[in-house]
Amino acid sequence: MQNEPLPRYVPEQIALYQTGHLLTHEVCQFDPARAVAELQAEREVMAIDIGGDKVRSAIYRTGKGALQKLEERVFRSRKGVGYLRFLERLAAEAMERDLRVGISSATKMEGSRITRTVNLPVFFEEMRQGYDADYAALFPGRVFAANDTIMGICGASTLLALRGIAPSHVAFVICASGLGASVIADGTAIHVEAAHVPIVPVLNPLGQATPCGVEGRQYVCVERVAAARAGIEDIYRQQTGEAKDGVELGKLYEAGDDLATLAYETSATALAHAIAGVMRRYAFPEGDESVIVLHGGNFEVGRYREAIRSRLATIPHTRCRLVFSRDLSPNVCLDGAAITALTLG
Ligand SMILES: [Zn+2]
Repeated sequence: MQNEPLPRYVPEQIALYQTGHLLTHEVCQFDPARAVAELQAEREVMAIDIGGDKVRSAIYRTGKGALQKLEERVFRSRKGVGYLRFLERLAAEAMERDLRVGISSATKMEGSRITRTVNLPVFFEEMRQGYDADYAALFPGRVFAANDTIMGICGASTLLALRGIAPSHVAFVICASGLGASVIADGTAIHVEAAHVPIVPVLNPLGQATPCGVEGRQYVCVERVAAARAGIEDIYRQQTGEAKDGVELGKLYEAGDDLATLAYETSATALAHAIAGVMRRYAFPEGDESVIVLHGGNFEVGRYREAIRSRLATIPHTRCRLVFSRDLSPNVCLDGAAITALTLG
């Protein structure tokens, strides 16, 4: 383990976010104020959150500006085994009850089609064979589907608007199994692949060497040090030969374990640079007009939340309002799926 402290500000890392390494994809128009207006009408929709190790569904009832979650169901499995059967039952139910459907999918998307997944190979293959990997073929005529970063930012910005917070610039950052981000810029929700940007060596003190791997990228990317499963868990296993999950590692970090501390502080530093890079790329102004919403398992660790705050504070031009999605809702991506089913479905 190195003795040098982690650098707190590495301009070269932020500069990498201004290059073609940052893949971006404009997904849909979204206006939180309009979404709030839509919540006045009494309606029911189905929302589905497709994650790396579980699918969650719920019926949402709206009316008088409120969003009420009912009939929540969870199906757990590995690699997406059984996901399709669970979704086919939901599709039959949506048709029978004539419900619009919103789907948050932790996969790369092109329109309503899945184009890439790391965690869900079985589900992806079954979807390809049966439905051309297209949620619109599974839920014909009634679905709006998007990546979880998009659903997260639509959900979070609407929940903020319901509390009277309407910033000019919003970014949403997921740090969980993987790393992902999105922004709303000039009324357009944009998927911003903050993960697959190279990490500079000084921000990789534990010598993570596992390459990015996405679409053939051979360099070590930000996700490989910052995310939970792809980064922290992988690095801890390399260093100790022991496999521990994010919950166990988070506890070690809170207890002050040296290796866990360095792995999490490395993650927080890389993530703070990613946030700074995205803010600069989309010209976020300094102050309360800029909101960064942070979502995912890493932010369940109190010491990590503090590390992100303190790391961001030492990077110039990053003054903003930091919001943790856990303070808005238990599942802001599922909420976003319900909201977009109303406004876009
Ligand atoms: Zn990558």
